[in-house]
Amino acid sequence: MPIASVNPATGETLKTFEAIGPEVIEERLAAAHAAFRTFRTTSFAERSRLLKRAAALLEEDHDDIARTMTCEMGKPLAAAEAEAAKCVKAMRWYADHAERLLADEYPAEDDVLDSGAARARVHYRPLGVVLAVMPWNFPLWQVVRFAAPALMAGNTGLLKHASNVPQTALYLGDLFHRAGFPDGCFQTLLIGSGAVEGVLRDPRVAAATLTGSEPAGRSVASIAGDEVKKTVLELGGSDPYVVMPSADVDKAARTAVTARVQNNGQSCIAAKRFIVHEDVYDTFTERFAARMEALTVGDPLERSTDVGPLATEQGRTDLEELVDDAVRLGARAMCGAGRPGDQPHGWFYLPTVLTGITPEMRIHQEEAFGPVATVYRVADLEEAVSVANDSPFGLSSNVWTRDEGEMERFVRDIEAGGVFFNGMTASHPAMPFGGVKRSGYGRELSGHGIKEFCNTTTVWTA
Ligand code: NDP
Repeated sequence: MPIASVNPATGETLKTFEAIGPEVIEERLAAAHAAFRTFRTTSFAERSRLLKRAAALLEEDHDDIARTMTCEMGKPLAAAEAEAAKCVKAMRWYADHAERLLADEYPAEDDVLDSGAARARVHYRPLGVVLAVMPWNFPLWQVVRFAAPALMAGNTGLLKHASNVPQTALYLGDLFHRAGFPDGCFQTLLIGSGAVEGVLRDPRVAAATLTGSEPAGRSVASIAGDEVKKTVLELGGSDPYVVMPSADVDKAARTAVTARVQNNGQSCIAAKRFIVHEDVYDTFTERFAARMEALTVGDPLERSTDVGPLATEQGRTDLEELVDDAVRLGARAMCGAGRPGDQPHGWFYLPTVLTGITPEMRIHQEEAFGPVATVYRVADLEEAVSVANDSPFGLSSNVWTRDEGEMERFVRDIEAGGVFFNGMTASHPAMPFGGVKRSGYGRELSGHGIKEFCNTTTVWTA
């Protein structure tokens, strides 16, 4: 894949970039490693000052970077602006809370004595240079979600961003540099995926984090496993959105639209499979499909646009194939299932609602990375849980019910890294984020996220 910004709303190539070669990669690896030696000894107060400076700069650049993201990957401008603001908030959150999150921990006195020690504590130290392989769908947020905690812990970072968002990638390297982080603390590597293995195997790289597809995750994790290096993987999702009879059905149908089409449908935590109790199935499905059909599809720079294009031509082809396969095998499209007639250029796809899904359809098991919803009718809670879990993925989940007993059943039984009741899944710096099954492992955000790239050290004194 060439390293280039191509506007997905028009198909026009905006800018192309040369990948950096082995010599520059070597320089950056050396700089990251050298920076770690001193950066690891800086105080939380100093790191916090630098990260707050980066947040302030990002706040100033808000309009420009939002526009860059929209032009590179097609998300509606308002969503790009919200993403930049969310990054500012996360940076400030980690700047304020990292020291507390990584404070020493003290085992119970009895246990300390039992171990033969006079005193003992658990101390968190940074791991080293962390390689971040990141995707294009939230090109700023996915990186900041890694960088803010990693830098606050005293690690240094190397970013290999997706090849279709090079301008955002370069902006990020520049942002941390302008904020005053010492040279080498955070650098962008403009490299293709083929160059990742060499960087990851380099002994100066301690660990890796990847957000993206399952094949990319499997490749990075296998190489890291071979090198015995820590990884965190945040892969795809096909989150269930369960609607039970006690739900506020109208609100559930309204929220379902946002939950499905946010970011033009290209979000790992978008609700993708709508699992609806038969008592409210007709009402929910009609309202949901009517609202999906009424969305405005078009130029993401226009404020009136709800849904922009898919980020890449390949992404639209993949989505079309999934929908066509389902329709061929008997699924019914309540709306969409095609390209908009009034958008001859760019990689647009109409918001689509499919019913009558059966297990042999690919879309039953695969992630639909675009504005396509599948709806399932279920008879009771047991069937809802069973359909929700009938997926290789387990990132997050959404459940609409006002019944406390049902809530506890879903918390106990849904196979996912999150259960969101009466609302849609969203990440927050204070809450852990990540999945189970093929959605990956490890957690980002919160205290759990910052500790992923720490050396949890036992300090034992006789
Ligand atoms: P990829 O997984 O291919 O891309 C994500 C990142 O991984 C990019 O930086 C990419 O680099 C890199 N990468 C790809 N293959 C390898 C590899 N073998 N070794 C090392 N790095 C690699 O995602 P796609 O853009 O191709 O999207 C495909 C599907 O992935 C989507 O349809 C969706 O299902 C899922 N996805 C999930 C995301 C999430 O948020 N969890 C985000 C994006 C995609 P390069 O761009 O240079 O290829």
